[in-house]
Amino acid sequence: MNALDTVNRYIIEAATTLKLDDGLMSFLLTPDRQLRVEIPIIRDNGKLQVFIGYRIQHNDSRGPFKGGLRYHPEVTDSEVSALASLMTWKTAIVDIPFGGAKGGIQVDTKTLSLLELERLTRRFTDVIDPIIGPNIDIPAPDVATNEQTMAWIMDQYSRRHGYTPAIVTGKPISLGGSEGRGAATGLGVAFATREACQSFGIDLKGARVVIQGFGKVGTHTAISLRDMGAKIIGISDVSGGVVNTRGIDLAEALRLQAATGSIHGLQDGQSVSNAELLATECDVLIPAALEDVFTEQNADTIKTKLIVEGANAPTTFEADHIFQQRGIHIVPDILANAGGVTVSYFEWVQNLQQFRWELSEVNQRLERRMVQGYHAIKAKAEEHRTTLRRGAFLLALDRVAEATRLRGF
Ligand code: GLU
Repeated sequence: MNALDTVNRYIIEAATTLKLDDGLMSFLLTPDRQLRVEIPIIRDNGKLQVFIGYRIQHNDSRGPFKGGLRYHPEVTDSEVSALASLMTWKTAIVDIPFGGAKGGIQVDTKTLSLLELERLTRRFTDVIDPIIGPNIDIPAPDVATNEQTMAWIMDQYSRRHGYTPAIVTGKPISLGGSEGRGAATGLGVAFATREACQSFGIDLKGARVVIQGFGKVGTHTAISLRDMGAKIIGISDVSGGVVNTRGIDLAEALRLQAATGSIHGLQDGQSVSNAELLATECDVLIPAALEDVFTEQNADTIKTKLIVEGANAPTTFEADHIFQQRGIHIVPDILANAGGVTVSYFEWVQNLQQFRWELSEVNQRLERRMVQGYHAIKAKAEEHRTTLRRGAFLLALDRVAEATRLRGF
């Protein structure tokens, strides 16, 4: 089962429990619109190269389509569809007035110069221009895209439509980005972890935390959880991982990461492979990279009490089942990493208001949304005697189905 099959399984289960009619269920299973584009650019060597990109809009019943843009060599329409669907449920759980979408370009950004990346992004903006807009579809960063990517999209879109900061979120602060957006996903993961630890009787003070992925989400999750009193005992990135049961020196890891783009060579504890990192005994395990990290092959090797999904779709359907049987709790992606899109919403609101909020206001509102979201999915899970993930899908489907029905066809 791939990520799309997995998310669709959860949708079918929830729709069945909620007794949604078949027509509505099939509407919620499939994207509203799928755009596949060719993006031709002239490389620095003068040669033409064509890249393939997608923007997939899953549902906009509760508000404009919303979701990130991923640059990765393995981007496919099936993956982007799954991620777009997850955005619909995510925005519903934290109750922000958006739907769900996702985009991507099949590209390894390491093989392109900065100027080539800029050309690629500007051309992509032009080809998706007819289907995006501040009240239609609002892109944002995701894997291997960042504030600079968003700045180019904002500039390119504004050339045709006039100054439009609300066309993307995750912009640099100097161009209308929000205070706190960079750290938001990680800080949200930490709030979700704190709430889950409380409900499952894990003391966050001194809790042993392992984080897979040391990009924007992983680093801010590590910093936030350390500040809440947890002990980060394992971290990793594509170059490998490090485990230190006395606690990783985060400041040193962040310095190395900032200087070299990787934690490769971190002299702090024991070097481990990705599989060893995941199998490290800990209280909280946080995947913060890509999909399909936990599968039926490794689910039995995981030694943790709680998994908090910083990444999107890190757990396959089969692994989820094994974790449930083993009594390992999971805070699902559609709540755990919703802090990013929540502060994207705050950014969009600030752009429309043409008024800036202070960091303390952003973070207080983020905390409130994450805490409310967590307790709402927990209440649903308890009502239906099921897992947090199933509770989350029940809550989200209920909200989206209601909006869809009320708007009519
Ligand atoms: N890419 C992020 C996510 O998967 C953020 C999306 C957004 O801010 O629109 O939630």
